[in-house]
Amino acid sequence: MERVLIKDAPKHIGEVVKLCGWVNVRRDHGKLVFLELRDRTGTVQAIILPDAPEAIEAAHDVRPQFSLMVEGLVKERPGKAQNVEQTTGNIEIEVKSLSVLAAPSVELPIDVSQTEMGLQLDTLLNYRTLALRNAKIGAIFQIYSELLAAYESAMRSAGFLEIKTPKILEAATEGGANFFKIDYFERVAFLAQSPQFYKQAGMSAFERVFEIGTVFRAEPHFTTRHVNEYTGFDAEMGFIESMEDVMAALEEAMFAMFEHIGKTCQEALALHEASVPERMAIPRIRLTEALEILKAEYGKEVEDQDIDSEGERLICEYVKKKYGSDLVFLTHYPTHLRPFYSMPSPEDPAYTETYDLLFRGVEIASGGQRIHDPKMLEEQIRNKGLNPDDFKDYVDIFRFGTPPHGGWGLGSERIIQRILDLGSIKEAVLYPRDVKRLAP
Ligand code: ATP
Ligand code: MG
Repeated sequence: MERVLIKDAPKHIGEVVKLCGWVNVRRDHGKLVFLELRDRTGTVQAIILPDAPEAIEAAHDVRPQFSLMVEGLVKERPGKAQNVEQTTGNIEIEVKSLSVLAAPSVELPIDVSQTEMGLQLDTLLNYRTLALRNAKIGAIFQIYSELLAAYESAMRSAGFLEIKTPKILEAATEGGANFFKIDYFERVAFLAQSPQFYKQAGMSAFERVFEIGTVFRAEPHFTTRHVNEYTGFDAEMGFIESMEDVMAALEEAMFAMFEHIGKTCQEALALHEASVPERMAIPRIRLTEALEILKAEYGKEVEDQDIDSEGERLICEYVKKKYGSDLVFLTHYPTHLRPFYSMPSPEDPAYTETYDLLFRGVEIASGGQRIHDPKMLEEQIRNKGLNPDDFKDYVDIFRFGTPPHGGWGLGSERIIQRILDLGSIKEAVLYPRDVKRLAP
């Protein structure tokens, strides 16, 4: 008999079907045994009646998280409304035979059957492999999977070529503070903390490129929005007129992702009582203006002309109130806050053609226009106290005739964290790495 997926079972009322899955819950009522069975498509109730003694015998030891194969009759559940679309909640499986495919060989350390487990994040991460079977935690990764697909599809439809850039680097570029050093045969190498240089190199050949890639950050942070390994959604595009073109492309990608998730992940979003933002023009505010708003509206002063995480939260609150938008672009960061490759603003070189995108209180992306003139680039490298000789391969990209261009680095897990309002970004990473955690 061919296996039927649980979501398709309602199409087989009156037939005997074969299902495979994990036991989520077992309940015994007198002589009746109820099993909630879960496969990758959903859950359904299976019932073993006294007139199936072999199945009762086979189910004797069955407990949560057993993997089972079940053959049973698909029946409408008594007392369910008639003439409504059949869902797995409206049916049950009357088990005819049952076989155990695998049984846990240890006592389960956590119970994942309830939607809300009420456990500390640390405990959930210690038992991550099991915790991922929980419906609400699993939903995070269903949404994440759709986010990956949506970014890829949005970028491809906008004419971007998907590339993968190297993550093992010879030199710690951009200053080097937050690089992990690794042994590389007889030498030292570094793990990439951004695909910046290679995506610009890719752009110099292909005009528009994007990457979905691992980013390593040796930052000793203990925050709710940093991990030491994350997945970046990067892009770089050539022949731009200004960074406005880059922001427009990012804005389009964001709403394409939100719309795709809104369409494909209704149940998963509902488990988290979450929703995605509606499409609307994202307000664009100069950073200096945002800092004035913070002072006037919230009495908040910042240091070094830089916005801190509280400031990001407050400016989002303000933008939500004033414009009804969950997102905001802050633009024109001062030169001293941005990397040397940032394009100075033509009207005032103390500022740059750069931006951050904030979503529900948190920075999710940084981007801008880059310098494409090798002389200007070398000058900016020197201005940052660095040596142009250390950036020869990088500067060479621009010696071959490279057009005005720009792009962004967008944190994929932060998007999920903000959509679902997760307490920590670690909840959106399958097996997160932080300062303390390298396993599982
Ligand atoms: P932050 O100021 O929040 O530390 P950043 O400005 O250092 O971030 P960028 O270098 O601009 O980060 O990286 C681009 C994007 O990658 C960020 O906007 C964020 O979404 C994501 N990102 C950066 N660092 C991390 C991290 N440690 N963990 C998870 N995501 C990150
Ligand atoms: Mg940033």
